[in-house]
Amino acid sequence: MRILNAIRTGPPSVSFEFYPPKDESAVGPLLERAARLESLRPGFVSVTYGAGGGATGRQEASIRATELLSRATTAPRLAHLTLAGHSRAELVQVVRRFLDSGVEGFMALRGDPPGGPSAPWHGSPDGLTYACELVELIRGLSAAPIGVAAFPYGHPAAESLEHDAAVLAIKQRAGADFALTQVLFEAEPYFRLVERATREGVTIPVVPGIMPVTGAVKRERMELLSGSALPAELAARVSAARDRDELAQIGVDWCAALVRDLLDGGAPGVHFYTLNSSLAAEAICRKVGLSGPSSDDSSGGR
Ligand SMILES: Cc1cc2nc3c(=O)[nH]c(=O)nc-3n(C[C@H](O)[C@H](O)[C@H](O)COP(=O)(O)OP(=O)(O)OC[C@H]3O[C@@H](n4cnc5c(N)ncnc54)[C@H](O)[C@@H]3O)c2cc1C
Repeated sequence: MRILNAIRTGPPSVSFEFYPPKDESAVGPLLERAARLESLRPGFVSVTYGAGGGATGRQEASIRATELLSRATTAPRLAHLTLAGHSRAELVQVVRRFLDSGVEGFMALRGDPPGGPSAPWHGSPDGLTYACELVELIRGLSAAPIGVAAFPYGHPAAESLEHDAAVLAIKQRAGADFALTQVLFEAEPYFRLVERATREGVTIPVVPGIMPVTGAVKRERMELLSGSALPAELAARVSAARDRDELAQIGVDWCAALVRDLLDGGAPGVHFYTLNSSLAAEAICRKVGLSGPSSDDSSGGR
């Protein structure tokens, strides 16, 4: 229960998400980054899971990287798993494999169809349709904490923001213990999401997701991942940046202010989409004075 303790008790939690390494040569650098971030005492670390049916190589890379992270960090590992591209029987196998490798929690996701988040969804007859079904499947196999996705700007295919919040409540009823949000650029949409979710009966902690603007990912990609355009002020600063260093500093300053707003407003912690670079996430955490409890810190309650 280390993952839930980190989110629910003590100082605000900080956690880091990585992409699976592209090839063997990228494994070492990934592990070095994870090791470096350990000084921030993350509540958990995770690796995204290659979705989109047929991407078996990517899925295997995710599983292996999640397993390998145990060599680099003592932080609990959270296993991302998407139902996309898997039959029910395969999902059971993957969950068991993750459990055997010592993961301490799951992120239960549908995954995007091959055409992207807004493309029509075509499930397979022997598979699942919604993430809430994956939550139930995992819960039937393990008592480990389960996280689910939440969308401050709304899921691209959602009927409405209210329906999206109702879906979060469905995931909670299925057994989810916490939620991590899609990329946020401002604090306000996070607080509006929490309000909507609370009205629907959601009581699980909702942890906001932060992706530093570093130039490593193109603006269009960030906006696609977030489901929102960059705020005008941030977009103007990004456009005016003279070089990558200046851009990186803009990202750190913006995200540090965002993290402060989120925590001041009561967010239980922050989850970093690291883009496999530890530097920006580390700089933001240090600027805000954010790191998890030390191993001898047993203080509880927030
Ligand atoms: C923190 C985080 C991590 C992620 N990690 C990954 C990753 O590792 N790999 C990856 O491929 N993708 C990842 N994603 C992206 C995610 O898979 C996509 O956003 C996907 O499109 C939706 O996933 P979901 O789990 O929210 O699906 P669902 O909860 O199944 O929702 C999908 C759509 O169906 C609707 N819906 C859901 N349940 C119901 C219901 N019971 N009745 C009616 N409608 C319903 C929703 O409103 C939504 O429009 C991540 C997202 C987040 C926020």
